[in-house]
Formats: sequence, structure tokens, C-alpha cells
Amino acid sequence: MNTTLQGKVALVTGASSGIGEATALALSAAGARVAIGARRADRLKLLTGRAPGEMLALDLDVTDQESVRAAVAATVERFGALDILVNNAGVMLSGPIAGADTAEWTRMVQTNLLGSMYTVHAALPHLLERRGVVLQVSSTSGRTASAYSGVYAATKFGVNAFSEALRQEVTAQGVRVVVVEPGFVATELAGHITDPAMRAAAREMAGSMRTLRPEDIAAAVLYAVTQPEHVAVNELLIRPTDQT
Ligand code: NDP
Repeated sequence: MNTTLQGKVALVTGASSGIGEATALALSAAGARVAIGARRADRLKLLTGRAPGEMLALDLDVTDQESVRAAVAATVERFGALDILVNNAGVMLSGPIAGADTAEWTRMVQTNLLGSMYTVHAALPHLLERRGVVLQVSSTSGRTASAYSGVYAATKFGVNAFSEALRQEVTAQGVRVVVVEPGFVATELAGHITDPAMRAAAREMAGSMRTLRPEDIAAAVLYAVTQPEHVAVNELLIRPTDQT
């Protein structure tokens, strides 16, 4: 067994599918004890059954501050500490700005931006205690906005801004902040888009290239969180080779 992360405790949000699921498995395979949170409890239960190490499933809705605080508390209660936060839960509801259903904007901001910030807030005291790592799953959309992803990009630009401020506040205390910015990864993410034209465009894009797999991002996360304590990998931008 790989014991690189032996003795470490991780919390992965949005672990019921895609990047979060693959990352939780990778951290577990590296020896960490891993708490996994999301709303689909059935999916989390299946994942705990596949984990190579100890894994704790938690009901988590990142838009609900109480739920976030409870998940962090349950992690620390069960495993005694928190060393690595993988702040990954997110939704992408692409579409044009004109005529948009603004409830979708609210959902993206509440999940991707506020939810991510609530999670850092709740986890930070424990991470400071352990000189831990905050790993923020952002996106290429956190660096470059494009038509039909205005609000999603705004949330990810927000994640990047928050992360840089956080880095400046906590790096002297030994907490490392890592921003991971994936390009197109084959996951369920685009399946939640309600605009039929946008969903079709996402499907077409997926079919036009060799997309990244969730495991590719999990490998990047593992690289970042297994560096020696004096090395802070602050930003990782990972695109499919075929994505322009
Ligand atoms: P998935 O849709 O497969 O995973 C999204 C995860 O977020 C699910 O586990 C979902 O769980 C969880 N989630 C959504 N809303 C909430 C909520 N309110 N509370 C808790 N968990 C929630 O997509 P990905 O794996 O692709 O997405 C993971 C992250 O990666 C996102 O932040 C996304 O923006 C980012 N990303 C993805 C890219 C891609 O191409 N796929 C590219 C760049 C970034 P549940 O529904 O069970 O709550």
C-alpha cells in the first residue's frame, strides 16, 4: 500500500461523482483517512465500499452553512484532525446572459463561490492547527471567461481571487493554498445544463477531443498535496492536449 499520506486526514466536497470521487479514491489509496461530502448519500455509500482505506460519508450541502460546519465537525470528531481540504463541489449551468433564468445564477454563486468560501471558513481553524492544505478546484474558466459561461466564470474568478487573498493570509502560518484549474474533464457536470443548445454544444465538444478523465485531476491533486512542507504548489492549469 502507498503510505505517502499516512496519518493525514482529508475532506473532499462534491465527492459523489467526477473529480471529487476520483480524488477521494486517490487520497485514500495514498494512505489518508478521507471524509467525503455531497447530497447524494447513496453514491457516497457506494464509494466508501470501494475505498482502499478508511472513508467517512457525510451528508453535505455546501450552500447551507450549518451543513458545512457539521461536516467539518464530524470529520474532526471521527478522525481527530483535518489536514487537507479539497474544495470541489460545483455546478455549471451554461447559457446566454440575455433571458437567463437567474435562479440558475443564484445556484451557481451559492454553490461554487459562497459554498466554497463557507467550507474554507469552517475548515480553517483545523487546517491552521495542522499546517494543512486548502485545495481549491477552480477551472480554466477561472482564468478566461467566454460567451455562455459568464456566471460560471464569475464564480471561478471569484474562487481564484478568494484563494489568493487566503494564501497571503495563511502562508506564514504554514497553510498552503492550491488552485487547480481543469479544462474539459469527462464527468456529469455538463449533464445538469438546462439549455438544450448548450447541452448539445457540451456533448459535441466532448466528442471532438480526448477529454481529461477525473483521475487526471486526482493525480494533480495528489502531486500538490504530497510536496514537502516548504513547497507550495499554488496553481495548476491542466487542459486536454486537444483543447485549444
Ligand atoms: P460532477 O457533476 O461529476 O461533480 C460535482 C460534484 O459537486 C458532485 O459530487 C455533486 O454532488 C457536488 N455538488 C453539487 N452541488 C452541491 C452542493 N450544494 N453541496 C454539496 N455538493 C454539491 O462534476 P465535476 O467532477 O466535473 O465537478 C467537480 C468540480 O470541478 C466543480 O467545481 C467543477 O466546476 C470543476 N471543474 C470541472 C470541469 C469539467 O470539465 N468537468 C472543468 C473545470 C472545473 P451531489 O449532487 O451529490 O451533491
